[in-house]
Amino acid sequence: MPASMFTNSVINHRDLYRLPWNLSDNAISWLEPTSACNLACDGCYRENVSKSHKTLDLVREEVATFKRLRNADGISIAGGEPLMHPDIVDIVRIVAESGTKPIINSNGAPLTMELLRELKKAGVMGFTFHIDSKQGRPKWKDKNELELNELRLQYAEMLAEVGGISCSFNSTVYDDTLQYVPEMVEWAGKHIDIVQVMVFILFRAAVPQMPFDWYAGGNRIDRETLHYSEAGKRKVDLKAPEVVSKIRERFPDFTPSAYLNGTESPESFKWLLTGRVGTRGKIFGHVGPRFMETMQVGHHLFTGRYLAYAKPQLTGMGRSMLLFSPLDKGIRATAGRYLRNPLNLFRKLHYQSVMIIQPVDFLPNGYQNMCDGCPDMTVWNGELVWSCRLEELKSYGTWVRTVPNSETEGAFALHQSPQA
Ligand code: SF4
Repeated sequence: MPASMFTNSVINHRDLYRLPWNLSDNAISWLEPTSACNLACDGCYRENVSKSHKTLDLVREEVATFKRLRNADGISIAGGEPLMHPDIVDIVRIVAESGTKPIINSNGAPLTMELLRELKKAGVMGFTFHIDSKQGRPKWKDKNELELNELRLQYAEMLAEVGGISCSFNSTVYDDTLQYVPEMVEWAGKHIDIVQVMVFILFRAAVPQMPFDWYAGGNRIDRETLHYSEAGKRKVDLKAPEVVSKIRERFPDFTPSAYLNGTESPESFKWLLTGRVGTRGKIFGHVGPRFMETMQVGHHLFTGRYLAYAKPQLTGMGRSMLLFSPLDKGIRATAGRYLRNPLNLFRKLHYQSVMIIQPVDFLPNGYQNMCDGCPDMTVWNGELVWSCRLEELKSYGTWVRTVPNSETEGAFALHQSPQA
């Protein structure tokens, strides 16, 4: 194993803008009003507990904890399936009244037009719909990622009909679904006027081929007691640059411009952000790092917060973004392509984000490479904790550590630098 498992020729982190998010000042925070869910998605890191709806008092308390500990532009209202909470409209109102943008992370199944209108009145600012082929959705079983675009479009059109709500989709990416990512990116581009963000989350789990002993505090535990353990071997080390390479097979100019690194590895891409500009059906180009920096820093300067989700009214102002041409090479090239045909001036230009999230990486020396400046921190016992590993705290009261086991530790001593 080389000293770094993240160095690659696809992207160099030093060419990109490092997103400024950190523990106390971030774009978002992560509220879970329930861990009950109507689906059982492969790779879900939350135990599905019926009757786990939090009271409104507890929700208020957790929102107050966020406000006390962390400056954030938005709060993701997640779960579980948050729309199953009977007081979801009040929860959205509580978040909005706290002065933070409420963004609902939902599988969409319980959403009706009537509920959507109520949520809009309560102040919902965005939705992230989790839709992929390993959710066991009734009526959509055995459909692949491309066939599911039909369902994605239904939700995007629902939001567009109500108006003023940001529309995002996330999909977990597995080794056998990576092949569909380029066409999903293409689909999102075709609907850039009503789809603001596309997120790909790389599958992770604790699998038997991992050469570790597992510890909670000083106690060795059985890996299979972890909520996200798998009985059989599976690929759990897909990396963001591999996804970029896959996308580039179809779109060679696909260009990320900003990232969050890992806690153990500065060159790993834990959140890798690409911003592109286009009209419905045609992408003209990608924004560069300086545009990303201007957006984050400018937003913080004028509002006191790093930008989370932007309303469709803002992402639909693509032509105004061209004014950044003198500052940003990516925008300059985009403007050149757009203005080549004067008729384009009659077509509305939109901005769209494509985010690739690479959750925990297990390094050969047992270190766990987390997202440095994790946006998805949730509240547990009055403290901010990684939402993706909350089950460890619930089961053991502490994070679970991994230590190379006796069969492998000799090999790591020989080949692994401690920083990798
Ligand atoms: S550390 Fe976990 S919860 Fe935080 S951003 Fe990364 S994957 Fe999400």
